[in-house]
Amino acid sequence: MTTVPDNINPFPETIDRWFTNCRVATMADGQYGIMENAALAVSGEKIAWIGSMDALPDPLPGPVRKTDCKNRWILPGFVDCHTHLIWAGSRTEEFEMRLAGASYADIATAGGGIFSTVKATRAADEDTLFDLASRRLAHFLGQGITTVEIKSGYGLDPASELKMLAVAGRLKEAFPQHIEATFLGAHALPPEFAGRPDDYIRQVMDVMLPEVKHQGIATAVDVFCENIAFSRNQTRQVFEKAKDLGFALKLHAEQLSDSSGTALAAEMGALSCDHLEYLSVDGAKKMADHGTVAVLLPGAFHYLKETRVPPVDAFRQQTIPMAVATDLNPGSSPVFSMLPVLNMACLLFKLTCEQALAGATLHGAAALGLADRKGSLAPGKDADFVIWDVDTPADLCYLTGITPLKQVVIGGKTVSPENERT
Ligand SMILES: [Zn+2]
Repeated sequence: MTTVPDNINPFPETIDRWFTNCRVATMADGQYGIMENAALAVSGEKIAWIGSMDALPDPLPGPVRKTDCKNRWILPGFVDCHTHLIWAGSRTEEFEMRLAGASYADIATAGGGIFSTVKATRAADEDTLFDLASRRLAHFLGQGITTVEIKSGYGLDPASELKMLAVAGRLKEAFPQHIEATFLGAHALPPEFAGRPDDYIRQVMDVMLPEVKHQGIATAVDVFCENIAFSRNQTRQVFEKAKDLGFALKLHAEQLSDSSGTALAAEMGALSCDHLEYLSVDGAKKMADHGTVAVLLPGAFHYLKETRVPPVDAFRQQTIPMAVATDLNPGSSPVFSMLPVLNMACLLFKLTCEQALAGATLHGAAALGLADRKGSLAPGKDADFVIWDVDTPADLCYLTGITPLKQVVIGGKTVSPENERT
């Protein structure tokens, strides 16, 4: 735990809101960056000032709104940098089948698995998908998640993939959270292309990617590189095309085996590689060389009852930033809050509370290319933060089954709870 000086910037001229009597964990530099007896000022959508209560004039100048935080904690809003938040259908029955001993093959034979989600998502119209996703995103807001990445990847044909990204665009308009949409057409091989993965990859590259670019409905492109999905060579082809079109790159990599996708993605300048349970030492070295963020997804590890953990010690030794995310999806991570993810990151992957919280804020923002604006608290950054009623930030990793949240502020405006909205 580190402490920053009382006053970290000069007193600003224009202030719209004050948050006084708070304790702040800035999470700057990936550390708590704790300030006690602090105040925070907002100007427009940005943080204007953070400093000691002792530095404030009494009374505070100007007719501005003042929120007394009563010594509660302010932390950056959570940045959930990996979700599959848009889907239709349910996989609960599959969960019960697995508990009863069914194998993946049994589940697939019974019509379950990812293709049941693809079938339901293809069949749902845009309004239905929007309603389903809206409920999830509204819940996220009440959990202090202020930035959300949302992937396509349950459509797997041009019209259905574009429909999913159109829904992400509507969510962006309707909700206060910052949303980044990612095109994940290469998530799984759709049944109609069985035995012809190269033909599907061609459709992703020649039909889907140009149209996603043309419509401006995603900023990044992701691929599932795995022996049950797409090869390293197919990943390279998609990434080359995506790069040409100006997309950022992300990769589902080394989740179930070592396909060396991470090294490829790092060399091609990907923002992040995600999952990484089977990452080799060489792969980690490539990430360090290229500044790639490691996104850890302990929810999927937990639900799939995996036993091999990502090489967290190698990430620490090579100072590779570790993000953590919910991976919200109906198949392997039906996790609707960052709080249990923090807890799992600590208990299952042995992150410290400070590392887990940095992973859910600063490094999550880095995994989306947003670290200059989001994920930490400092003058000039977006005023996206949460007031928590906890004794210490580590309580957010330690406690489960409770969401001790008092207020969510995005772009300087209180957006949750409902009765505090500004
Ligand atoms: Zn995923």
